[in-house]
Amino acid sequence: MSAKIISICLPKGGVGKTTTAVNLAASLAVAEKRTLLIDADPFGASAMSLGFTPELVKAGMAEVFSFTHSMEYAIHRTELEFLDFVPSNVNTIQRDEKFSKIAENRVVLKNAIRSAAQQYEYILIDCPPLMRGIVANALTASNSVIMPVKSGHFSLEAISRLFKYVEYIKEIANPSLYVEGIVMTMYESNTKVTEISERELKLRYNKFLFKTTIPRNHMVTESTFYGKPAILYNVNANVSMAYLELAYELINKYKQEENPV
Ligand code: ADP
Ligand code: MG
Repeated sequence: MSAKIISICLPKGGVGKTTTAVNLAASLAVAEKRTLLIDADPFGASAMSLGFTPELVKAGMAEVFSFTHSMEYAIHRTELEFLDFVPSNVNTIQRDEKFSKIAENRVVLKNAIRSAAQQYEYILIDCPPLMRGIVANALTASNSVIMPVKSGHFSLEAISRLFKYVEYIKEIANPSLYVEGIVMTMYESNTKVTEISERELKLRYNKFLFKTTIPRNHMVTESTFYGKPAILYNVNANVSMAYLELAYELINKYKQEENPV
């Protein structure tokens, strides 16, 4: 087995990257796919969404990137049997500086993931809103990219910049990298802003749009405070169902690729 490695990426903050990484990873795990979530955002909040306080973290990306511990050692079990997690514990300025310096070498993460990739079906990487350093590492290590786009919040420029960056990484480091899809987050049906952004997205990126959209629901933010993915906090909420649907959309896509009709 070798995992599908997917970066959750967009060079813009607050669009739902971390929420999508955590909840898509949890949903894949609920679907009994062995999944690893890697928090590659030095200021990331994935740990909080999974209930990891600093005392519970034995090692994370800071140690992996400073070569003090292996990726395997930094892998933590979670409440979900099929979900494991590597936290980002780059929590001081000194560590961040060191981390950024090492991340200039694009293949650190790819090399660190290599043996772990044999134990999982999916590896999701939650990226910071940048297009360098750790994101270059994530894209070099990945098979594909998922771009979360906040509905009604014009992110078209960020999408087009990321498409160009994907092309650049393909040229210099990872020829088989591709865009898995764009997912609309914080979707509010029957509102003008959502309608306009959906129309624009369809016009330019129709073939990349996931069928599933993620509704806006404050429950997803609330669940973070309880240290749980939405699906473990309230499985019946529309947003939990939507992430599960997104997981199945992804799984079915790979199924079709493996068994073409
Ligand atoms: P990013 O990682 O791109 O910066 P986050 O996933 O942290 O974005 O989301 C930004 C904010 O929006 C957070 O407060 C998060 O709880 C909230 N949020 C994300 N998705 C939803 C949603 N579907 N409904 C309501 N709030 C959401
Ligand atoms: Mg984030």
